[in-house]
Amino acid sequence: MSFTAQQIQSFKKIETPFYYYDLRVLRATLEIVQQYSKQYEYVVHYALKANANLRILHLIEKYGLGADCVSGNEVLRAVEAGFSPSHIAFAGVGKTDKEILTGLRHHIFSFNCESVQELEVINELAAQINTKARIALRLNPNVEADTHHYITTGLHENKFGISLQDLPAILDKMAQLKNLELTGIHFHIGSQITNLDNFKKLCLKINEIVKFFDEKQIKLTHINVGGGLGIDYLQPNVNPIADFANYFGVFHQYLQRRPHQAIHFELGRAIVAQCGSLISKVLFVKEGQQKKFAIIDAGMTELIRPALYQAHHEIEALTPEATTATVYDIVGPICESSDCFGTDRKLPTLQRGDLVAIRSAGAYGEVMASQYNLREKVRVLYNE
Ligand SMILES: *Cc1c(COP(=O)(O)O)cnc(C)c1O
Repeated sequence: MSFTAQQIQSFKKIETPFYYYDLRVLRATLEIVQQYSKQYEYVVHYALKANANLRILHLIEKYGLGADCVSGNEVLRAVEAGFSPSHIAFAGVGKTDKEILTGLRHHIFSFNCESVQELEVINELAAQINTKARIALRLNPNVEADTHHYITTGLHENKFGISLQDLPAILDKMAQLKNLELTGIHFHIGSQITNLDNFKKLCLKINEIVKFFDEKQIKLTHINVGGGLGIDYLQPNVNPIADFANYFGVFHQYLQRRPHQAIHFELGRAIVAQCGSLISKVLFVKEGQQKKFAIIDAGMTELIRPALYQAHHEIEALTPEATTATVYDIVGPICESSDCFGTDRKLPTLQRGDLVAIRSAGAYGEVMASQYNLREKVRVLYNE
């Protein structure tokens, strides 16, 4: 059991469902990240799309991380949370003019660009307001990520990035775009990557690409290797902190760095996933023909990952007094068959009114919540 009797008592006083963020876990994670970024002189950005909760952002900013944004509103949220615009990268395959202007007006660290047309538009908008945009080209390294099909991004078949064949033509084009300054290159091969060999392959590919830029005598002041480090969804209590030692170690070992180059990372999930749980109450226990269902008051509206990607989350019954176990499908109240948090889960026998915790829900949880079925906005509780 990962919650104390006292915590469970305090949960019972609050209307469910709610996200519970353990800021002690977040701090412990950030301390490790800070330690490695100092040791290797790496710059780590936090990817806001994993969790844009202001309280969490404030804490992350205090540990000196930069921000990685994928929309104009995320840029504004990062600024609101205290991130310096000079530490904000703005990625995304479809930036609107309004979003680009937001980034330009704040003089952000870099626009991570994915097409010729995008470069032309940023150049034009920058000229209109008399400024220059710093650009990192997002390249598609065609590296596997061994992750779920929907969250791999670094293959030719994916919509992301510029393919290496197109790079020479793009560089020629960029030479004519006077309001752009090429400062770096950017990669992001996917998410929830636990086989670190994929990051080694990325490093080797980047080394080749950097050589190509050297030959062209184009000076890149930064290499942004993206994010994607996975976490342990099966054993959140055993591994509450992602394997940052080996992750940063791979880049240190395999990425050849020029003396003038800064290495940037953009981690989302690995920073926030394990600090969050979704706490929910059992509404009904229903005996089906073949199965027992525990129907809880949280649904895909609060946490969509199981429905969207067949993601696994550990589910814990917060019932210290239960003495027998039963196998359940844990389902939500939403009128969709995919609204299911787990099948055939053996849990302490549940009664109406018992609480359950859906673990490792700090990333891509609250931020993806919706009001489908006119659900209420999900509540939040913090543990200092
Ligand atoms: C989503 C995303 C990230 C963060 O991915 P995680 O798997 O959460 O670490 C980083 N960079 C870009 C460009 C992204 O789209």
